[in-house]
Amino acid sequence: MTTIKLHNTRTRGKEVLDPINPDDVRLYLCGPTVYDRAHLGNARPVVVFDVLYRLLREVYGPDHVSYARNFTDVDDKINATAVARKEAGAPGTLEELVQERTEETISWYLADMAELGALEPDHMPRATAYIPQMIAMIEELIAKGHAYPDGAGHVLFSVKSYKDYGALSGRSVDDMIAGARVEVADNKRDPMDFVLWKPSTDELPGWESPWGRGRPGWHIECSAMSHELFGDSFDIHGGGNDLMFPHHENEIAQSCCAHPEGDFAKIWLHNEMLQVEGKKMSKSLGNFFTVRDLLEQGYPGEVIRFVFLQTHYRKPMDWTDKKAKEAEATLRKWRALTAGIEPAPSAAAAVIAALSDDLNTAGAVAELHKLATTGDAASLLASAQLMGLLTEELGAWAKGEEVDLSVYEQALFDARAVAMESKDFAEVDRLKSAYLEAGVEVRMSKQGVELVPGAGFDPAKLEAALKPL
Ligand SMILES: [Zn+2]
Repeated sequence: MTTIKLHNTRTRGKEVLDPINPDDVRLYLCGPTVYDRAHLGNARPVVVFDVLYRLLREVYGPDHVSYARNFTDVDDKINATAVARKEAGAPGTLEELVQERTEETISWYLADMAELGALEPDHMPRATAYIPQMIAMIEELIAKGHAYPDGAGHVLFSVKSYKDYGALSGRSVDDMIAGARVEVADNKRDPMDFVLWKPSTDELPGWESPWGRGRPGWHIECSAMSHELFGDSFDIHGGGNDLMFPHHENEIAQSCCAHPEGDFAKIWLHNEMLQVEGKKMSKSLGNFFTVRDLLEQGYPGEVIRFVFLQTHYRKPMDWTDKKAKEAEATLRKWRALTAGIEPAPSAAAAVIAALSDDLNTAGAVAELHKLATTGDAASLLASAQLMGLLTEELGAWAKGEEVDLSVYEQALFDARAVAMESKDFAEVDRLKSAYLEAGVEVRMSKQGVELVPGAGFDPAKLEAALKPL
């Protein structure tokens, strides 16, 4: 059997994946808070862990891998949108408007991630469906002396009660206090203590609990949901490295203190962040965009995925327009090369080897280029498909040329109007012959110009026709 090695953040080295139960390899990824469209950075872990999921399915069998990715559907930003809608006169109770916002965001998220070729996880737990499990876990933590209620509706986790706190990121508690904006509050015994439960207002979503009506803190969600689905110990926990502290440190503290007999997650995988044209993506820099923005600008989901996979997940991923253009050209070439070909029975050994070496997708892409150069189309197809590329579902963009012809129609229409005045038809004739050369039939009438692409349609030539000579 193929040996998979992964870089474990906790031990800071590459480790052989040795599943607790090879018949049920369990992978948990922290999912989105569903308050708005996913931005491009949110999509990176989804694509990275989708490749890992596909590799695990290849190695252990599709029925022997369980992948969970949660939806955080309790959040102030969701509530804020619902309140704004209510104030703008939207019908329904605040609770219904909260529900509406989470439902629409979840459906956007699933549609956008599907366009990037991400398989749906086996489990997509929503926090609001696991409130009793969270309450039970908090009670357990209080009983074991790791948490305390403040008497005013909050329950806090006592960080000092867990000696290994900070072991994941390798920082001391003092360093963490210095590096993070730790909120000092009167109800905390120690500034590092974090919220497990907090009170809610009457109108906003809340649940009855031993500490009054309230709602869970963010960190307890993942601990409770992963325990319910996967038990005390499971194989791999993933997320962006921005979640390492405090979210993942807190998850570990909660889970290991509530269930000290287990290991929680054995291997921790963290992906690096995404940049745009060498800069951090931010609204103030004007380089912030959602996955949907890119798709609407005409970047096919498969191209976005391919650009992502060219960088190793532990390195910062720089999204550039140049990379997207090159990715598009490569995929077009590979799709032409593999058209009508049956994929080989399995992916190329070199591709599986690269992926098994800490998910070296950049190395795997290099192998795909080699297969394309040698003309091994069947192997190229099988190997690319293992990485979620060159699949049937993602191929629509490369089939029909959905080029907007109206700009070319207008150019010819305008040129004719000018020619009618000047009696010089040279530009009209030039455009007509350039369009014909590009494989487009030209139909002209008094009302306008209609262009009809034919079999030999070449969008690049059409584009060239409008370039100044
Ligand atoms: Zn989490």
